[in-house]
Amino acid sequence: MKLSEVKGLGKASEKYLNELGIFTTLDLINYYPFRYEIIENTDVRKIKDGDKIIIGGICEKTPNVYHYNKRLNKMTFRLNTGDFIVKVDIFNRGYLKSRLSIGTVITVIGKYDQKHSSITASDIKFYLIEKTVIEPVYHSSIKISSSKISKLIKTVIDKVYVVDFVPDSINEKYKFMSKKEALYNIHFPKSKKSLNMAIDKLKYEELFMFMMKINYIKDSKKINDGLKRKVDYEKVENIIDNLPFKLTKDQNKSVRDIYEDLISNNRMNRLLQGDVGSGKTIVSFISLYINYLSGYQGALMAPTEILALQHYNNIKKIFPNLNTVFLKGKMKAKEKREVKQMIESGKADVIIGTHALISEDVKYKNLGFVITDEQHRFGVNQRGNLKNKGKTPDILYMSATPIPRTYALTLYGDMDISSIRTMPSGRKSVKTILKKSKDITEVLYMMLDEIKKNHQIYVVAPLVKESEKIDLEDTYKLEEKMKKAFGKICKIGVMHGKMNPEEKEKVMDEFKKGNIKILVSTTVIEVGVDVKNATMIVIFDSYRFGLSALHQLRGRVGRNDYDSYCILISDLETKRLNVLTKTNDGFKISEEDFKLRGGGDIFGIRQSGDMNFKLADVKEDYDLLLKIKEDSSRFIRSSLFNDSKYLHIKKEVINSVNQD
Ligand code: ADP
Ligand code: MG
Repeated sequence: MKLSEVKGLGKASEKYLNELGIFTTLDLINYYPFRYEIIENTDVRKIKDGDKIIIGGICEKTPNVYHYNKRLNKMTFRLNTGDFIVKVDIFNRGYLKSRLSIGTVITVIGKYDQKHSSITASDIKFYLIEKTVIEPVYHSSIKISSSKISKLIKTVIDKVYVVDFVPDSINEKYKFMSKKEALYNIHFPKSKKSLNMAIDKLKYEELFMFMMKINYIKDSKKINDGLKRKVDYEKVENIIDNLPFKLTKDQNKSVRDIYEDLISNNRMNRLLQGDVGSGKTIVSFISLYINYLSGYQGALMAPTEILALQHYNNIKKIFPNLNTVFLKGKMKAKEKREVKQMIESGKADVIIGTHALISEDVKYKNLGFVITDEQHRFGVNQRGNLKNKGKTPDILYMSATPIPRTYALTLYGDMDISSIRTMPSGRKSVKTILKKSKDITEVLYMMLDEIKKNHQIYVVAPLVKESEKIDLEDTYKLEEKMKKAFGKICKIGVMHGKMNPEEKEKVMDEFKKGNIKILVSTTVIEVGVDVKNATMIVIFDSYRFGLSALHQLRGRVGRNDYDSYCILISDLETKRLNVLTKTNDGFKISEEDFKLRGGGDIFGIRQSGDMNFKLADVKEDYDLLLKIKEDSSRFIRSSLFNDSKYLHIKKEVINSVNQD
């Protein structure tokens, strides 16, 4: 129904409602109060000036009505509350006079005015209210008040046709109110209890429809478009048995997950998440091997050249019989041509590289499996492009920044997830220490201790918004500092984004060999770099980083039996940084980061509009969301989803999917 068809709703009100985003009567009843004024039955002995009160009593004296003009009037009478007698003023309700005589039992709702020891009433009820009165408060504007909105809702609520998107069986299971009753109670709550029940129902409904949408997308992707493969798991077990170490439980489970995905008829869309050093790489190598055994090419794309090269060297060591090639942006023309030729002819079994892998001139013979490492560092488009290089390749994303639980369910809800939660045995956790910049001397002594033990140290300078200029200044400044302190006893290296890949590689090589003892760098070392002899990382101005990024940096050390240290130097935000001194669990840290900074900051994406619910809060209602996720998948996979009775649910789901 249009607003203009509502009796008593004038053109002006319509316009004001439009400004609030309300265009139909359905919009109007879906416009929930954003808070409630709760007025408890007042203890008159405690009231203060200006208090909202609700008080019962009897009328002491026939009211007087004073008329200002035809429409405006003020009625005054005295109310005996049993404890004392108070004057009551009420405006423009002169018509109630006939109902008020001496001894009439009433309840007055209003505001207390101490100076005049009177109550300015907003309403009078002709019975005693024992309980609480709950008044809705709507987001309103100067032009249209909250109470006007409430009144309009009252006039239309019975006339609007409302649809319940929660299926009967679920309504029964949770003993939910009907949709209509819930709407009544969210706008005109009879009690706190009924208000809570209304919120429970409506919150459930909005999350249910959200999960339905996600499940629908997820299911519609699973339509037998996967590659046909056949590999016996025995062969996989054989590979695992021949590794130089024993896989952890979660690594084994992840391999199994990926194997199942690969041989299933559905296309894989999986995220492998696990802390830095938890051993994702070996899982990805085994996956590449399984893919190879089933007859396809596999590609692994890493965000930096250093990391890609490290993967390349490692896989060649572990699986020397695989024909693995390396591809990066800057290569000698002849070499590049050869590599590309091997990829196109199918001679290359595994291709490892940077985002050069997705450049247009690279053609694959039969790409069946695509892995992207540290997936959140690639833009969505880059990820998509590699996916499009094969016909319907299986996709695995790897990330050391675990997705906060709520994000896993929502934003990434259409993705399957494998998590590696435990570290390979023998790892010591890194001791994290917070220091102020004035304590620098103390920090230098701690560094000296490590150098004396012939260990190596990372020193990290912050990088502000990719500003290479500041980046250079900072690393060089720090290099100067380090040279002053340690230049006489050891070699100090610098690495930053402005250097060309060969220079970087050279420095990295020197550091790996142990010739460079202190490596001053920007966050280029953040991802994946593995130097076991490094036992200390000192991060300057660490407040500039997100907790997850710092945790990643910290993961550069503690890769050996030695005690390792992460020193965070910061004069600001020490409370936030303190989280890192308390835990080494990346899953917990990403939750904290999410709480403190929001998901967008962690993943470099804007907070999705999808996450804005009217009643639900994805962080607080996580457990509910889990429950709803299950309810919704059960419903969508049952015959009920296609039942004509629930056509309205299906229609709404499909509509909202198509809108995105
Ligand atoms: P991630 O990629 O998850 O950050 P890596 O795969 O680089 O971690 O693993 C870190 C180190 O741990 C590597 O040197 C790797 O060889 C080693 N590693 C992996 N899995 C195990 C295991 N199950 N037992 C012992 N060492 C392991
Ligand atoms: Mg890794």
